[in-house]
Amino acid sequence: PATHDSVAPGVPYPISVEFFPAKTPEGADKLRAVRQQLYALGPQFCSVTYGAGGSTQEGTFAAVRDILAEGQSAASHFSCIGATRDSVRAELAQLQAMGVQRLVALRGDLPSGYGVGGEFQYASDLVAFIRAETGSSFHIEVAAYPEVHPQARSPEADLQAFATKVRAGADSAITQYFFNADAYFRFVDDAQRLGLQVPIVPGIMPILGATQLMRFSDACGAEIPRWLRLRLQGFGDDTASIRAFGLDVITTLCEQLRRGGAPALHFYTMNQSAATLEICRRLGLRD
Ligand code: FAD
Repeated sequence: PATHDSVAPGVPYPISVEFFPAKTPEGADKLRAVRQQLYALGPQFCSVTYGAGGSTQEGTFAAVRDILAEGQSAASHFSCIGATRDSVRAELAQLQAMGVQRLVALRGDLPSGYGVGGEFQYASDLVAFIRAETGSSFHIEVAAYPEVHPQARSPEADLQAFATKVRAGADSAITQYFFNADAYFRFVDDAQRLGLQVPIVPGIMPILGATQLMRFSDACGAEIPRWLRLRLQGFGDDTASIRAFGLDVITTLCEQLRRGGAPALHFYTMNQSAATLEICRRLGLRD
């Protein structure tokens, strides 16, 4: 990849932060405090995940409403699996009435046991529907998979699926997290070769613990390189050492990405502020 700083001097390098909706009133209070700490980073937007099948819709929209009331730009994730055109239309109207201007449009994953059902098969169907229904009211983000979505028939088919989402009207993309910068740069090059011009922002997962990260990564198809897995396993239950090591690894990854031209960074905060704040401090992105 070209080595350059993608942002003009003096203009802060853009970051965004992602939360999941709290399940309890105490969780919502804690999340409010976490958000306030992260606002110090001046995020371009704060996004809130949405449980497939609409399972967190109320909590997602409540958190989005809070973020807007706190004077920040909010993005609502929106998954379409199991949804109908009428239900999506009604939720889009609700989001527009709330003043939401940015969506992360997804297919989602239904928990096993649920039938697929619904009137949307792929995220590209949702993007096309949102554009048809609401014109340019929303900035639409879609998901991208530098290490290939686990259900894809092939890397080429997955890239084509990404292109279909972009051509259906997506404005930009956020990637699944990864620990291998080359996979990201390769994906961006491949997308550009197909003529796709949208910014592709790397999703960054701070390392907060080993067991959960490994379970989660296996499920979503993010590869933990052998050296990283072995080093993490070597720390056993020593969470403090895992986190210290994780800060070094992720800061280095972010530096590589930024130097290689990544247009911004999107942090999967896991509803915690310390790691994201420290990585951004080390990157010199904010004081
Ligand atoms: P799609 O783009 O529809 O792709 C799904 C699969 O279908 C891929 O394997 C693709 O290659 C294939 N495919 C697509 N189109 C076609 C076609 N025309 N023909 C054949 N195959 C095709 N999940 C949630 O439930 N809630 C969230 O809030 C959430 N937020 C996320 C945010 C980000 C940034 C990312 C990266 C993921 C997020 N996810 C979330 C997870 C996501 O829902 C899953 O990864 C899901 O399995 C795929 O969603 P998608 O939108 O990428 O699907």
